[in-house]
Amino acid sequence: MAQFRRIGILTSGGDAPGMNAAIRAAAREALAGGVEVYGILEGYQGLIDGNMKLFTSARDLSNIINKSGTVLYSARCDEFKYPEGMAKALKTCKDNHIDGIIAIGGDGTFRGATDLSAHGIPTIGIPGTIDNDVTSTDVTIGFDTAMNTAMNMIDNLRDTCESHARCNVIEVMGRWAGHIALRTGIASGASAVAIPEIPFDEEAAIQKIIDQKADGKRSFIVVVSEGLVGYAEKLAKTIQERTGVETKFARLAHIQRGGKPTLQDRLLASEMGATAMKFLFEGKSDIVLTKVDGKIGYRNIKDALTVDRMFKKKLKPEEYEALSAEDKAWMEARCAAVQADMERLYAIANEIS
Ligand code: ADP
Repeated sequence: MAQFRRIGILTSGGDAPGMNAAIRAAAREALAGGVEVYGILEGYQGLIDGNMKLFTSARDLSNIINKSGTVLYSARCDEFKYPEGMAKALKTCKDNHIDGIIAIGGDGTFRGATDLSAHGIPTIGIPGTIDNDVTSTDVTIGFDTAMNTAMNMIDNLRDTCESHARCNVIEVMGRWAGHIALRTGIASGASAVAIPEIPFDEEAAIQKIIDQKADGKRSFIVVVSEGLVGYAEKLAKTIQERTGVETKFARLAHIQRGGKPTLQDRLLASEMGATAMKFLFEGKSDIVLTKVDGKIGYRNIKDALTVDRMFKKKLKPEEYEALSAEDKAWMEARCAAVQADMERLYAIANEIS
């Protein structure tokens, strides 16, 4: 059991509903163990600047589990990627007796966490991103809330589409991943869903709308992932030209990042926050928490980033060759499982609509 004087917690990169629940759980777990907590403000920038607030009691974290955004604020900080920025961050840790950090965010945040660990500050990552684009976990904090928000917004668009016999092509978030689009498309009864991971059959989608219109259908929803940059707007024009149905384009954008976290996100964040702190106390470092098949676990950050690149087909041949047989096996199995899950949902999204 490692000895800790103070722990820092930060949120970095894009915010996600549920981050506050993770902060609360991690901080309270530390306080229960007799360790004080610094809430580091604005991610790695706050670590560089020494911009922090000290939590000395569980009461300092009251009434945040139900709030969206992040009470620690978030920021993007380029300086942290360079030795001068790291030196300032390490000085802040030394001066304030911070000897462990929990970093909540996405893959950029995990890169920073690895660098901190390598410089002697044990750091653990928690996946907090609405995009669900961390391949080694089934779910990330914020994903469920963002999908529910998107679904509700699409339902609203459906109402007015039905009144006016229109089509709406809706671009949802997810960065380069189609997880949000797939699930919200199914849940809102979309006629078609287009995502980056699987080739989209535009002709089939247009024919389906023509057939559905002939069958008496008045309103049509098509969900497109933002990862297909610029495609949703173009598709809206094509659908109008080819089907004769008046078609509007809507980008849901950052509305998907706000809103009260759902029960699922609060549960996930509470479990991950408390477990991350337990892992830190056990002496673990340079890992990211995961939830696979309902169980909380972890992966080394380097492995988690590698399997992400493998899934996106961005792994260089020499990187692949350098992997051990065991790592190749679990990473390939993981990528195949995530792809299979997407294909299963894609079939549902585009066939049962
Ligand atoms: P996310 O964590 O959501 O992926 P970003 O990619 O913007 O968001 O990363 C968040 C922050 O993490 C960056 O602003 C930077 O401070 C830090 N970071 C990102 N990439 C690196 C890196 N390669 N090395 C060190 N720190 C990084």
